Amino acid sequence: MEDYESDNGRMLFAGVYASDIAEEFGTPVYVTDEKKLRENYRRIHGVFAKEMDTVVNYACKANSNLAILRILEEEGSHIDAVSVGEVESCLKAGFTADRILYTGVNVSNEELKAVSELDVMINIDSESELERLAEINPGHKISIRINPGVGSGHSDAVITGKRGTKFGIPSERAIDVYARANDLGFDIRGIHAHIGSGGSDIYPFMDAAEILSELTNEIKDIGVDLEFIDIGGGFGVPYKMNEDPMSLEELAIEVTDIIKMQTDVETLYIEPGRYIVADTTVLLTKCVNIKDLGTKKFVGVDAGMNNLVRPAMYGSHHHVAIADKFGKACTAKYDVVGPICETGDYLAHDRVLPNPAEGDIVVVYTAGAYGFSMSSNYNMRPQCREVLVNDGKAELIRDVQPMEDLWKHQIVPERLRK
Ligand SMILES: *Cc1c(COP(=O)(O)O)cnc(C)c1O
Repeated sequence: MEDYESDNGRMLFAGVYASDIAEEFGTPVYVTDEKKLRENYRRIHGVFAKEMDTVVNYACKANSNLAILRILEEEGSHIDAVSVGEVESCLKAGFTADRILYTGVNVSNEELKAVSELDVMINIDSESELERLAEINPGHKISIRINPGVGSGHSDAVITGKRGTKFGIPSERAIDVYARANDLGFDIRGIHAHIGSGGSDIYPFMDAAEILSELTNEIKDIGVDLEFIDIGGGFGVPYKMNEDPMSLEELAIEVTDIIKMQTDVETLYIEPGRYIVADTTVLLTKCVNIKDLGTKKFVGVDAGMNNLVRPAMYGSHHHVAIADKFGKACTAKYDVVGPICETGDYLAHDRVLPNPAEGDIVVVYTAGAYGFSMSSNYNMRPQCREVLVNDGKAELIRDVQPMEDLWKHQIVPERLRK
């Protein structure tokens, strides 16, 4: 991973001083670089499209801000959505239904009905779901999610493609399920596997492509021609300074080689979430309190696990720096901790930092994926702002949540009112 540029010890984000953005909009604030977002989309689409016809379904759970979705819509992206809320958000952002694939898990009949009425292709996760959709809309366009028995991911919590996870239909059931879907009259378009999130090794993706290719041929033998193979997302990105990115070129060549050589399928679907948005965004947070316990030093900041839960939830590493002490000599090791009343509320452990002081702006790197989108109101803290920087200009793309929102949908029974 590469570091940001700076000017006289002041970090520059997309050509703007990071601390100026914090000053103008307040903290905590997520800040996204539009140019980088567009570049990331173009890079991943280009690398695969060079090898074979490729549809990029941006997995919008990584970051579902409408402005971000608008940019990706303009770039020509399609969408992988995992809930009705995501489908509706993408429709609102201007994606047509034919550019959205819905991949739910443990889907209710209400949700199946809602998604099929919106005319969005459904990626079936279980045999029960297939039967239930047949009652609701038997001719619907579908794909089927296979659990290939290979997994990948940055932590056990995000590996989805292994046996024993709740996702997909085990590969040995696949042929029966395709035959059943065909008998039921479904419009069957593709086959899918998503093996996990954030893995940086290309081999699990190749294994999954092999399994999907073999199944595609067996499915053809029972009279169903598939239009696409969907290898899912989960392409890892570096979070540490000395980490190299995974070789997307190699991945694209290997995976498309397998599909082209073994099947007649002409279109590849990929579903990157993290890859497209992770490094487009930083979280800016203000140091509000320094605490030195002798054995341990804390940089207390105004962003916590309510804003960015990945370190607390997965033990994830996010690089941190001080915006206006950029490249300065480090003085000691600190934990960067937030305002939430939990011992696990930290953003970074044991980081050497250059003499942090109250008022400093701390920059949390690579925060664009599963950052804001996983944020919450825990401890009754309003969700923070989001800003988009383009061409040297910073624009607000989400305002801070008003305090009234915190109790907006709560109902106190009449007899308890004061
Ligand atoms: C989350 C998810 C993705 C994207 O994962 P990333 O690690 O963000 O690339 C893709 N497909 C499905 C079905 C998902 O649930």
